[in-house]
Amino acid sequence: MRFIDREEVAARLTYEVCIPIMRQAMIALSRGETKQLLRSIIPLSEGRLFGIMPGAMGSHAPFGAKLISVCRDNFADGKQSHQGLVVLFEPETGAPVCAVHAGEITAIRTASASAAATDALARKDARRLVLLGYGEQAASHAGAICLVRDLESIVVWGRSPERAHSFAERLRTKLGLPVSTAGSVQEAVAHADIICTVTSATEPILRGEWVRPGTHLNLVGSSYAGPAEVDNDLVLRSRFVADSREGVLHQGAEFIRARAAGLVRDEHIVAEIGQVLMGEIVGRRSAEEITVYKSLGHIVQDLASAWALYAPQSPVPAHGI
Ligand code: NDP
Repeated sequence: MRFIDREEVAARLTYEVCIPIMRQAMIALSRGETKQLLRSIIPLSEGRLFGIMPGAMGSHAPFGAKLISVCRDNFADGKQSHQGLVVLFEPETGAPVCAVHAGEITAIRTASASAAATDALARKDARRLVLLGYGEQAASHAGAICLVRDLESIVVWGRSPERAHSFAERLRTKLGLPVSTAGSVQEAVAHADIICTVTSATEPILRGEWVRPGTHLNLVGSSYAGPAEVDNDLVLRSRFVADSREGVLHQGAEFIRARAAGLVRDEHIVAEIGQVLMGEIVGRRSAEEITVYKSLGHIVQDLASAWALYAPQSPVPAHGI
C-alpha cells in the first residue's frame, strides 16, 4: 500500500491541478453519482475533534474515507490544525491501495473548491480579496483565488495585529500582490469584492450590514453544526449556495442558526455549487447581489484529490454509477 506524504501532496496537488478536479467532483456530487454519509464527529477533550468522512465516487469507482483530527490550539505552535489520513480503496477488488496526508489535501482542496465557487459566483470584475483569518486556509485561499480572478489587492484581518502583519508580509512576497491589514472586520470588508471567512471563531465576527452589495463570500471556517462566523442577517441577505445541500441542512451552522431564528427556510439554499457549475441553476443574477458559497468540506473532494495523486493517468469515471 502506497503512502503519499505532505511534501508530495504539496508538490503535485497544485491549485492549477486541483481546481478542475474540484469542479468535476462537485458536479458528480450534485448529479447524484457519488455516495457519502454525513460527517461523523467525536468530541475529544478541550474542544478537539475527531472527524470520520466516508464516501464513494460512484458504485463502481474509488471509495474510501478521511480520518481527521482537528486541534485548534495547534495554530499557536505553528502546527496544522487538521491532521490525518485519506484512505483510498480501488473498486475492482475492494483493496485499500493508498493513504494520503490529509492535512495537506484539506488545505489545498478546500481552497481549490472555494476558487471554483468564486469563479462561478463572484463578479467578473472582482479585484479586491479580503481574508478574515491568517492561518493555513487563509494562505491556501489566497493562492487559489488569485488564479480565478485578476486580483489587485488583498486585505487581511485577524485578532492579533502582529500575526496579521507578518502573514501579510509573507503573502506579499509569495504572490507579488499588495497585501495590507485592517484593524477591524468592518474596516477590512468595507471595499471587498470577495471575502473568505477562514477562522476558528465560534461566534459571528462578520455582520451582514457591513457587506456591500455585489460581494461574494466563501464561508469556510465552520464545518459542523456549532460555530458560526457570520450573523443571520448575512445569511438572509445572500443568494445562498451550498457545497452539499444535505450537509448544510444538517451541519451548516450559519444556515441552521438563521433557520432556527425563523428568518429562512430550507429553500433559502438556492443551489449546490455543482448545480451552478454544470449550468443547471444560475448563480449570480445581478452585479448587486451578495452571493455566498457555504463550504463544509466534502469527502468527494478528498477522494478525488487522493485518486488524482494515486492514479494521475486514470481519471475517476465521469459517470460513476
Ligand atoms: P488554523 O489553525 O491554521 O488557523 C485558524 C485561524 O483562526 C487563525 O487565523 C486564528 O488566529 C483564527 N482564530 C481562532 N479563533 C478565532 C476567533 N475566536 N476569532 C477570530 N479568529 C480566530 O486553521 P485553518 O486555517 O486550517 O482552518 C481555519 C478554519 O477553517 C477552522 O475552523 C477549520 O476547522 C476550518 N476548515 C474548514 C474546512 C472546510 O472544508 N470548510 C476545511 C479545513 C478547515 P488567532 O488565534 O491568532 O486569532
